[in-house]
Amino acid sequence: MNKIYDAVVIGGGVVGVSIFNKLVRIGKKVALIDSASDVATGASKANSGLVHAGYDPEPNTLKAKLNVEGANLYPKICRRLSIPLRKCGALVVGDDLEKIQNLYERGQKNGVKELYILNRQELLKIVPDLREHITVGLYAKTAALVSPYLFTIALCEEGIINGGELYLEEDLVECRKEKDIFEIVTKNNTFKTKSIINSAGFGYNEVAKILGTEEYPLEYRRGEYFVFSKETTLNVPCTIFPLPTEKGKGVLITPTIDGNYLVGPTSEKSEYETVTTESGLKEIKEKAGLILNKVDFKNAIREFSGVRTICGDDFIIEKSKVNGIINLAGICSPGLSSAPAIANMVVKLLGFKTSELENLKKIEPYKMLKDYPIKTQNEMVKENKDYGEVVCKCEKITKGDIVAVLKRPIKIRSVDAVKRRTNAGMGLCQGGFCFTKVVNIIAKTRKISYEDVLKENRGSEVSVGDIREVNYGN
Ligand SMILES: Cc1cc2nc3c(=O)[nH]c(=O)nc-3n(C[C@H](O)[C@H](O)[C@H](O)COP(=O)(O)OP(=O)(O)OC[C@H]3O[C@@H](n4cnc5c(N)ncnc54)[C@H](O)[C@@H]3O)c2cc1C
Repeated sequence: MNKIYDAVVIGGGVVGVSIFNKLVRIGKKVALIDSASDVATGASKANSGLVHAGYDPEPNTLKAKLNVEGANLYPKICRRLSIPLRKCGALVVGDDLEKIQNLYERGQKNGVKELYILNRQELLKIVPDLREHITVGLYAKTAALVSPYLFTIALCEEGIINGGELYLEEDLVECRKEKDIFEIVTKNNTFKTKSIINSAGFGYNEVAKILGTEEYPLEYRRGEYFVFSKETTLNVPCTIFPLPTEKGKGVLITPTIDGNYLVGPTSEKSEYETVTTESGLKEIKEKAGLILNKVDFKNAIREFSGVRTICGDDFIIEKSKVNGIINLAGICSPGLSSAPAIANMVVKLLGFKTSELENLKKIEPYKMLKDYPIKTQNEMVKENKDYGEVVCKCEKITKGDIVAVLKRPIKIRSVDAVKRRTNAGMGLCQGGFCFTKVVNIIAKTRKISYEDVLKENRGSEVSVGDIREVNYGN
């Protein structure tokens, strides 16, 4: 490639994609590269999906500043992308008034608005099933729910339709610099660029080694969760946290933007491994039982985990000693909440202004057949019979919905990528009935073989070949 980019962003999680999107919106030539088969396959797909209000981080840290700034930017960005954001608020509950007061004061110092200390009677009006020992709580009215992956996908699509370029399944090989231009060599391409942003999350050090930039001691902490079905009747209208400890914000109970409930996460030092464990799941059950009188885990339909990448107490966002490179290391929680503000900070570190171009294109809203009024649904089915074929019965997702997402700007080839965009496979049966149908639709729509359809990333091929070869002779 002879083109010279203004910037190449490495890592398509919510942070890298936010930076990619912002650089495109200010008129820069940008490429985003990731080794995975889709954006949002790392920590950005497996977290609590909360836009934190910002009372938790220590004052005067990047975490505090960027959390509050980022949370303030979310409503406008979500409106622009037609992505749901539900401002349902968050409660921190316990029996220690002093600790709650400290959190309140920290929030005030961080500039968080609409924080209230509530007594038990006031708390019970919001959550009637709180355990009897809970006497006091902090209510953060501005905390919100978002789909972390749909937010990332939509930001990426918006970047692409406005001129940004996305390169998935790219394996970095080396990076050279001649005069002021870097040449990033991958197994498939060579990218020439004036600047590079290392936003590879858990892969930060691997990328830093190739770029010849600062490496940092990274710690991984796994957070395991239970997902409860949409049919669950938990009287929980907002996110409920216990009092934070040195291990983090603790096991929370929260509705999700899709109408399920999440209970978790744990916080265990680990490798970068997204497994769930007997001890982790047991811990969640015990800790949830300290918040609510009854949490019926028979309603759980899935367990999953996400892994935090931590580097000391704060985010590292800095200019590298190698001129033209920006390092982002240890972007753990509240990284999702902070991502839009991190993007602005990186743009400034690169020496650009944050003001955006006018007349940028808008993405098509993510809407499934079931999201339209019945009259429109009937018209859609009449026009395209694929909308009349229900593939995921639990979530009521049709073949037409799946074909439509496969034709959107990010060229996906995995069942999980379809799931993140449509919710197919997220219901009670967890894909038991629709998995092979989705594989079939991906192969036919993308015109690829079954062996090329993935569950998630390379190495998770859903089919490895024929069971037997039949030679019918001549
Ligand atoms: C359990 C848990 C709960 C959390 N809850 C919240 C929450 O509620 N609210 C909140 O604000 N934050 C939360 N967070 C934090 C938030 O999820 C992260 O801060 C955020 O997702 C980090 O995004 P990222 O883009 O830096 O990393 P990632 O999403 O991990 O993305 C990194 C990307 O880099 C790519 N990559 C890695 N190595 C390479 C390589 N060598 N070459 C090319 N590409 C590479 C990966 O494929 C990946 O796409 C939580 C995190 C966890 C784990």
